[in-house]
Amino acid sequence: MAFYDPLTGLPQRQMFIGHMEQALAELARDEEMQGAVLMLDIDDFRKVNETYGLDVGDQILREIGRRLSTAIRPHDSVSRATGDEFMVLLTLLGADRVAAARHALKVAEKLHDVLAGQPFQVGNASITIQVSIGLTMLDQRSTKISQVLQEAGMALHRAEEKGGDCVVFFSSCIQARIEERLSLERDLSVALKTSQLRMDLQPQYGEDDRVVGAELLARWTHPERGIVSPAQFIPVAMEAGLMPRLTRWSLQVACETLVRLQGHGIECPISVNINPHSLLRPDFVPSVQETLAQTGALAGGLIFEITEEAWLGDLELAARRMQALNRLGIRFSIDDFGSGFTNLTYLRRLPLDELKIDRSLIQGLPEDADSQAIIRMILGMARQLGLRVIAEGIETGEQAGFLFAHGCDAVQGFWKARPMPIEVWVAAQTRSLGCQERR
Ligand code: C2E
Ligand code: CA
Ligand code: CA
Repeated sequence: MAFYDPLTGLPQRQMFIGHMEQALAELARDEEMQGAVLMLDIDDFRKVNETYGLDVGDQILREIGRRLSTAIRPHDSVSRATGDEFMVLLTLLGADRVAAARHALKVAEKLHDVLAGQPFQVGNASITIQVSIGLTMLDQRSTKISQVLQEAGMALHRAEEKGGDCVVFFSSCIQARIEERLSLERDLSVALKTSQLRMDLQPQYGEDDRVVGAELLARWTHPERGIVSPAQFIPVAMEAGLMPRLTRWSLQVACETLVRLQGHGIECPISVNINPHSLLRPDFVPSVQETLAQTGALAGGLIFEITEEAWLGDLELAARRMQALNRLGIRFSIDDFGSGFTNLTYLRRLPLDELKIDRSLIQGLPEDADSQAIIRMILGMARQLGLRVIAEGIETGEQAGFLFAHGCDAVQGFWKARPMPIEVWVAAQTRSLGCQERR
């Protein structure tokens, strides 16, 4: 009985692996024996359990097992892998590889419909589920069970990434992407210890053409890939758990830059991008305090740019963190403002200093009437709330002209200056008059 799952009566994983070994051995002898492995996962099954209770959840799992067993042919097999994850082995798919793959995909789609296409009747409830399926072929190259399972798992993961409720065929493209990702993660971890990472600085200008601040933007010069954009490596850092180290490093650079500027008598605030997840971590405020103390930088010179994601999740927590940092003297800017779904209630509840209008709205300027209207509205609202407004991605004088004419406080973009090495900018600043105090 240990080979069978007590709830569904289906073979358990160990026995299923035995079936796979057998199928692989047959395949090695006879090409007609091509097969496929499907990994099925019920989307959000936790919700079913939470909403209807574990008993109902169990009944659905039992019914899923029954439906799958009925839908497959006698020489195929189905197993309950874990919780709400099932596996199906298809065999005898013929010698033609393309036809076999097509057949396997058809079966996967059929199994998807058998589960997701008709509701489960439990008591008075009629419950509909969604299913993600990953599919891979057993063929001559699949000599190892672990490899087959890994491929099916990658395909399933991709199906879930695509939003679930679909079938994804394993392909070497998926594998290539995963390998690429893992190698980037490894390299980024090395980069954090070496000097491959640096910060560039992009100045921000007021209407009178004077510098009113500067944003730090991370740059990674990879030994083989060349320059990797932060838009590419920040998500990698997040997934690989490297974000805390990256944030700590960026704070360190920001504080050191401030101290250097202060040493030259330049009073210029430095903006640094803070990932929402970093802000919400319990050790964030202490780590900021530590960096300030260790570098001797004045917190009043720091502006943290944060996107709205930070408070869409947990407004109260975000507010507490921001208030604690604000008490130290740090100011806040909402990055990418107007680029997505905006919940305006937070504008009053958070200690905000600045709105940063997203580049996507600027691109329509000066011609597009909708962009004009939205920007005028943002500027009016910010004035009411006493927030400073800066616009990013300014590429032409006309765009800057429109913004200043409607009360925007500052602009940042290629029109005035591209991001540049910090030293280059500091040298230029010490030659000129320096930076104007922000209001
Ligand atoms: P962001 O904060 O919205 O930064 C502005 C991006 O627009 C930068 O891209 C900048 O180089 C680019 N940009 C500036 N002016 C112009 C312009 O006139 N035209 C155009 N087309 N682009 C302009 P970058 O440096 O590639 O950074 C991309 C994103 O990566 C940033 O978007 C920010 O979200 C993130 N990022 C960059 N550095 C860091 C960092 O140190 N920490 C964190 N957490 N995120 C960072
Ligand atoms: Ca930014
Ligand atoms: Ca931005």
